[in-house]
Amino acid sequence: MPPVRPIILSTWSFGRIANSAAWPILCAGGSALDAVERACITVEDDPTIDSVGRGGLPDASGRVSLDGCVMLSPKRCAGVCFVRRFNHPVSIARRVMEQTHHVLLAGDGAEAFSEAQGFAPVELLTDEARDVWHKWRNDPAQLRGERYRGWLPPCNVEEVSGMSDNRQRLAADEVLPHNRSHDTIGVLAIDTRGAMAGACSTSGMAFKVPGRVGDSPIIGHGLYVDPQAGAAVATGTGELLMRTCGCFLAVELMRQGASPADAARQAIERIVNSCDIFDNHQVGLITLAPDGAWSSAALRSGFRVAVCTNDADDLTPAAAVHLPSSDPAEPLL
Ligand code: ASP
Repeated sequence: MPPVRPIILSTWSFGRIANSAAWPILCAGGSALDAVERACITVEDDPTIDSVGRGGLPDASGRVSLDGCVMLSPKRCAGVCFVRRFNHPVSIARRVMEQTHHVLLAGDGAEAFSEAQGFAPVELLTDEARDVWHKWRNDPAQLRGERYRGWLPPCNVEEVSGMSDNRQRLAADEVLPHNRSHDTIGVLAIDTRGAMAGACSTSGMAFKVPGRVGDSPIIGHGLYVDPQAGAAVATGTGELLMRTCGCFLAVELMRQGASPADAARQAIERIVNSCDIFDNHQVGLITLAPDGAWSSAALRSGFRVAVCTNDADDLTPAAAVHLPSSDPAEPLL
């Protein structure tokens, strides 16, 4: 079989950093699995990115917890969640996949497993993230939380933190409020042998209820890969993806014949038709067919996909945006 043209797709502007670290692996004939892991590690290791790995914003109690997963196929996948002492959830998830028969490890158990596998514990909360948390905790605006059943809501991080270096690296509409209290690095890749892999890693929603776990570590919610049908990875308000099994749904639509563009758009439409949508909600979804065709869709504007192939190294807006403006009645573009 002739070599396949490799491709790597990552969420958000920081996906470009992820892609540039992972692309040499794909170019050298390395595996899609190694590439997606390297992409996530690169973002996890950047303390200026406040939604992934060390430097991520903490939960309401001031502690950072990380989630992530990795997937090659329904037979080969795993995730870890509520990891509070280790910085590389995707690498730990890969070990769960390779060393156990389990699919998800959580909390203390995931940390004990990490330690036994030789991962080094680290303090995930940086001084900068602690400062933002203090500002959030002292900001009366957070008391607008009644509609969230009394719990302090995820707030507009931008309002309380001011512009940081990381903000200045983002495109203008990526800092819109609905894009700001969360962001996952989600990656899909195909290597020169035609193997697909996906991974995602996040510190989850800023100032979440302690113990909250989102879509990112859960197979079928934040990521799904089936080499027979395609792959999907998501970012945004995890609860919306969890209520609809968002990535599994997108891949099943492709299995039934939908193009990557239709699958991504229909998965977003399902969310809109099934869930209560609040102003600060955002979802971005990337879909990839086994032949390398890909697309994306988002609930609102601002979502970006970083793509790297032999011919391109781009950052593109979502192909379809459900709510391009604040008008909730506006249809898909
Ligand atoms: N999906 C992640 C979560 O809900 C965060 C994000 O991607 O924005 O935990």
